[in-house]
Amino acid sequence: MNTLERAAAVAPDLIVPLVGFRQWRLAGSSLASVYDGAPWPEGCLSARCDRGHAPAGVPAKDCSCGVYAYYDPCPRTASAGTADLVGGAVVVWGRLEAHMYGLRAEHARVIGLELPLSRGRKRRVVIEAGELLGVPTVPHRSLKALALEHGEVLAPALRPKKTLTRAANVWARNGPA
Ligand SMILES: [Zn+2]
Repeated sequence: MNTLERAAAVAPDLIVPLVGFRQWRLAGSSLASVYDGAPWPEGCLSARCDRGHAPAGVPAKDCSCGVYAYYDPCPRTASAGTADLVGGAVVVWGRLEAHMYGLRAEHARVIGLELPLSRGRKRRVVIEAGELLGVPTVPHRSLKALALEHGEVLAPALRPKKTLTRAANVWARNGPA
């Protein structure tokens, strides 16, 4: 039984939608994975495993599969100085694997994107991306509040203090896929 299953067993009524934060690469006015460039759909993204786990087993405990989301918004500086990285928030559900800094989820949907500081082309592209997804685009400082309208961040008490699995190493190396 993992941490989240334990939480559900102890307090089933407290299970609410979970939200998290991550980055994407802008591909035109669509979003793509920072990790492998795979396009993000406009609706729900369901994770797939390239190491052979069946959809019903994703994310697997000792794998790197799943949709990655951090517990905290990515620093504004992580995307502000780039032409094509954009931060945002997701709601996640289905099977979940909790790690120290974030979680891997079976399903995710974008709920908001972060506006760059600049007023130039990137800002227009992010606004377009938000319109295509049907989600708001907000300043960095408002992203967490926006996310919390959709659910909660996994409580610190339920986050592993250390993650010893292979996935943790991938997490530390690559950040969210
Ligand atoms: Zn896997």
